[in-house]
Amino acid sequence: MSGILTGKTALVTGASSGIGRSAAVALAEAGARVALVARRADRLADLAAKIEAGGGQALARAADVTDEAAASRAVQDAIGHFGGLDILVNAAGMTQVGKVENGDTGDWRHVFELNFWAAFYTARAAIPALKTGGGDIVNVSSTAGRRAVGATFGPYAASKFALTAFNESLRAEVTLAGIRVCIIEPGATATEIHEHIKDDRVREFTRNHVEKEGAMQPEDVAAAIVFAVSLPPRVNISQLVIRPSVDARVL
Ligand code: NDP
Repeated sequence: MSGILTGKTALVTGASSGIGRSAAVALAEAGARVALVARRADRLADLAAKIEAGGGQALARAADVTDEAAASRAVQDAIGHFGGLDILVNAAGMTQVGKVENGDTGDWRHVFELNFWAAFYTARAAIPALKTGGGDIVNVSSTAGRRAVGATFGPYAASKFALTAFNESLRAEVTLAGIRVCIIEPGATATEIHEHIKDDRVREFTRNHVEKEGAMQPEDVAAAIVFAVSLPPRVNISQLVIRPSVDARVL
C-alpha cells in the first residue's frame, strides 16, 4: 500500500476493535507501517494478516496498556521492529458505570488506568522516537470529555477530561520538539464499547446509543485521525470534535 503516509510508522492502541482497528486499517491504507496493540492477540494477528495481504506491513503486539511496563515494552518493540516511530494513536478505551456515593473505586480506577494512564505510558515511551524527525500523538477522547452528561458515566467523563488536560500540557511540552499532539472527540460511533459495561441496563442503553440509526462508523473517526496526521508539519489540529449529523441537538 502506498499513500500520503508511505515511509511512516504508526502504533495504534485498541487496534483489536472499533475505532482503533479502523484507524490501523486507514493508516495502513495511507501507506504507514502499523504496530497493532491490544490484549486480544488473535484479533491482532487476523488484522495484521489482512493488512499484509493488502500489501502493507503490520506488527501484532498483544499488551495490556494499563500495565506501565507492558505499555512501554509494546512501544519499544514497535520502534525496534520498524526502526522508528512517527505516529502514536491512543484509541484503547472503555466506559463503566460509576456513581460517587457508594461508588466502586475499583471501576473508577480501571477506567482512569485505561483512558488516562495508558495514554501517558505510551506517550512517554514514544516521545524520544517521535522527536527524531517529527511525529504525531493522537489521543482519542469523547464528546463526554467536553461536557459530563448525567451521573451514570462519571468515571468516563472524568477520565476524558483528564485526558484533555494531559493532551494540552503534552502539546505545550513537545510541540517545539517537532511532535504534534491532537485530541479527537467523537460522538456516538458503532463499536463494541458497550459490551464491557457490567450494568445490564446501562449496557443496553449504551448499545442503543452507539448503534442508533445515523451513528458514525469507526472508519469515519479513523478518517479524521488520518486527516490530522497527514497535514503538513506546520499545521496542528490540536482538538477535533466529530459527531454524527443526527446529533445536532445533543452531545
Ligand atoms: P471498543 O470497545 O470497540 O474498542 C476498545 C479497544 O480498547 C479494544 O481494541 C480493546 O482491545 C482495547 N482495550 C481495552 N482494554 C485494554 C487494555 N487494558 N489494554 C490494551 N487494550 C485495551 O470501543 P471503541 O472503539 O468505541 O473505543 C475506542 C475509543 O473511542 C475509546 O477511547 C472510547 O472512549 C472512544 N470513544 C468511543 C465512542 C463510541 O461511541 N464508540 C464515542 C467517543 C469516544 P482488547 O479488549 O483486545 O484489549
